[in-house]
Amino acid sequence: MANPLIYHKQGWIEVICGCMFSGKTEELIRRVRTALIAKQKVQLFNSKIDTRYGIDSIISHNQNKVAATCVKKSDEILPLVEKDTQVIAIDEINFFDMGIVSVCEKLANAGKRVIVAGLDTDYRAEPFEVTAALLAKAEYVTKNLAVCTKCGNPASFTQRTSKDKKRIVVGTTDAYQARCRRCYKKPRK
Ligand code: ADP
Ligand code: MG
Ligand code: ZN
Repeated sequence: MANPLIYHKQGWIEVICGCMFSGKTEELIRRVRTALIAKQKVQLFNSKIDTRYGIDSIISHNQNKVAATCVKKSDEILPLVEKDTQVIAIDEINFFDMGIVSVCEKLANAGKRVIVAGLDTDYRAEPFEVTAALLAKAEYVTKNLAVCTKCGNPASFTQRTSKDKKRIVVGTTDAYQARCRRCYKKPRK
């Protein structure tokens, strides 16, 4: 029997969340690759804020790479989506404005498979509102864990190692470590 989801061209939202280094980008790239093997038309988007590994691509910490369109704001996405695109993947959703939530809903309502990846919490362990809303609205949710850099246990916290107090500071191992609940130290306000 045909899968009814595919038969009716039903769209949906998938969220991949977790702390830094938990393999969110890797998982997003893996899902995109399998969609491409299935000969589906895929469009990828990334935030212009994420300049860590050069623009116009999504790259995981282990250098897995796919081409992506960099956008600054959520309202740039819908006009860029082509009609016959079946899968939309967006990395670093936590860098986007709240408008990204309705963009994802509109795409899913239009029959597209929407895969988003991003941090669920910031360096103070507070939820990112965008990710929290998408987690609540998604059909499928995946939470990845990293490895605690101090003790090797499963890690779900992002420890900022610099003194910066801004909520968004782009960095990699120079500024962040994955930590478990015991090794994570909440920074003061
Ligand atoms: P994310 O997008 O969640 O930040 P990536 O998918 O870019 O993560 O990178 C995941 C990869 O990072 C892992 O497969 C591993 O090679 C590497 N890595 C570096 N530090 C860690 C860590 N502390 N825990 C797990 N993976 C790590
Ligand atoms: Mg990532
Ligand atoms: Zn630990």
